[in-house]
Amino acid sequence: MNHVRPPRPELEFLVPYDAKDIKAEVMLAANEHPSNLPGEIVERLAGRLREFRFNRYPDPMASRLRELIAEANGLEPHNVLVGNGGDELIFDLLLAWGGPGRKLLDCPPTFAMYGIDAQVTGTELVRIPRTPDFELDSEAILARLGQGDVDVVMISQPNNPTGTLTPETVLIDILNATDALVLVDEAYFEFSRHTMRPHMERHPNLVILRTFSKAFSLAGLRVGYVLGNEEVVRELTKVRQPYSVDSFAQWVAATVFRERVVFQQAIRDIMRGRDTLMHGLSAIEGVEVFPSEANFVLFRVEHAAALWRDLLHNHSVLVRDFSRSPGLEECLRVTVGSDEENERFLAAVEDVISQRRAAEILGGTEAHVRHGTVGELGY
Ligand code: PMP
Repeated sequence: MNHVRPPRPELEFLVPYDAKDIKAEVMLAANEHPSNLPGEIVERLAGRLREFRFNRYPDPMASRLRELIAEANGLEPHNVLVGNGGDELIFDLLLAWGGPGRKLLDCPPTFAMYGIDAQVTGTELVRIPRTPDFELDSEAILARLGQGDVDVVMISQPNNPTGTLTPETVLIDILNATDALVLVDEAYFEFSRHTMRPHMERHPNLVILRTFSKAFSLAGLRVGYVLGNEEVVRELTKVRQPYSVDSFAQWVAATVFRERVVFQQAIRDIMRGRDTLMHGLSAIEGVEVFPSEANFVLFRVEHAAALWRDLLHNHSVLVRDFSRSPGLEECLRVTVGSDEENERFLAAVEDVISQRRAAEILGGTEAHVRHGTVGELGY
């Protein structure tokens, strides 16, 4: 044959997720931890690496890690499912609770994977946009859930990319209003210090998602987990790939989890860094900063796409550009970095904006042209 039969027709309208693998000296685009694993943990792992059985298949349920997570959350192992990053578990939830003829409710602007996975699994998306200050529109959500046809709800808490924390009472109203599976995505829980865990017993439809990618410096290994009631976890095990979490990742994540107090100081430093970024950005004229309970800060600024480019090309600082996303017009998101990185980012924003001011005062676009920002970005 000299051709390939086409895949599922639905794929025609999908574009591959662009993880934007751009390199810079200061990487503040992916909400990662600014530091690698603490040296003492790496030493301990290195000491035992020789005995590691690379030749054996992993434990499909990551039993050791599962027990540790269950115990820390006052749950049983059957209430925990470990996945290949939170991303895999979101996909599994839609494989099990979504699919053709079923509906996912999400509240944009929010984490893009909910919508992407809905499309891939053939789940219909019901979108209830957030208010202009990124709160949930609880009245509209409750009214829509009242129709009784939504199968799964996904809420990022705090919300990526806006940083907004939804009041617990609103989430409880949602849980009371529906028997749909409600995923409260607590990927940034260690920075917000808010969890819906105490409500699990009363609400069997509540599922909580967490990850090792943010507070525990393990974005490179891909480990996340859900907390849910036993039946929900059992259904998820039917659709998951049995060996999705490799044994190296299980081993490292279990070591990290056992030693998690070691990470507390860095988490406090990141929360302090978040305040520094929020204050620093709000002191810059023309920048609007949104409150954040996560390890990133969203801000709005005129000509955001041009600022993004100047930060990258003139200062080697990479942030995330949301300026073309609906509801996030002129918005950029910066991840909290080390103190040095935060300072470098703030100084770079000030520099670009003051150059822009100078150019405006000089009367025209001449300085912008010198800076290489006019034209390509459609100022
Ligand atoms: N949920 C949210 C809200 C996120 O921002 C992310 C990571 N960007 C994830 C889930 C998934 O994280 P991971 O797959 O790295 O565990």
